[in-house]
Amino acid sequence: MTELLYQTDSYLQEFNATVTSVLPTERAIVLDRTAFYPGGGGQPCDFGTLTTESKTYAVEKVKKQGEDVLHFLSEDLPLPSVGTVTRGTLDWVRRYELMRTHTALHVLCGTIFRDYGAQVTGGDMQPLKGRLDFEFETMRGDLVREIEAAINNEVAQDREIRVKILPREEAFQIPDLIRTKINLLPEGILQVRTVEIVGLDLQADGGTHVHNTSEVGKIRVADYKSKGAINKRIYIELE
Ligand SMILES: [Zn+2]
Repeated sequence: MTELLYQTDSYLQEFNATVTSVLPTERAIVLDRTAFYPGGGGQPCDFGTLTTESKTYAVEKVKKQGEDVLHFLSEDLPLPSVGTVTRGTLDWVRRYELMRTHTALHVLCGTIFRDYGAQVTGGDMQPLKGRLDFEFETMRGDLVREIEAAINNEVAQDREIRVKILPREEAFQIPDLIRTKINLLPEGILQVRTVEIVGLDLQADGGTHVHNTSEVGKIRVADYKSKGAINKRIYIELE
């Protein structure tokens, strides 16, 4: 089982950890704790390095498997053995861009729900660009600039982002969370992590976010596409 350090401190760039198991065929190792985000909820995984006393490995992919986080290492070096102490270092430029992008997408989601009542059905992101799909029948081209102005106005409000880990029963009492389909969470999950953009948006979410919308910077609505009468896809880019 890997302790997920990024869940409570998204700004942690370096950490110490011990190798708890090795998967030679996959060239992956499990650590007792990690700051590497393993991907999920539309946010891609982190990259970076793991350094032991004698070697530095490139972390080329990170993936969650049950309660473990697998770190896939570059092929040039023999794998470390169980018990090895390592220092992990994130590719922070990439991760911070993903944090800004992820928060920007929540700003978009919260603003569109507030202004048009449209719900999100899916999304995806890369550093500094992303998209969300909405059930948004009334979306049309001349709303693009209006939406862009509204989301940049929210960013300019310097809204704080608060992350909490709540018991399942408590989370289920929050009306805003129920609208984001929290009831689809598997029964075995006893705790729910919530991400709140104070005054704008509240979601059950496992990703890494900035502390304040001021860190997001300027957002451009890059494009939108009709995926049928109801489903619309909105693309954003960050500067
Ligand atoms: Zn999210």
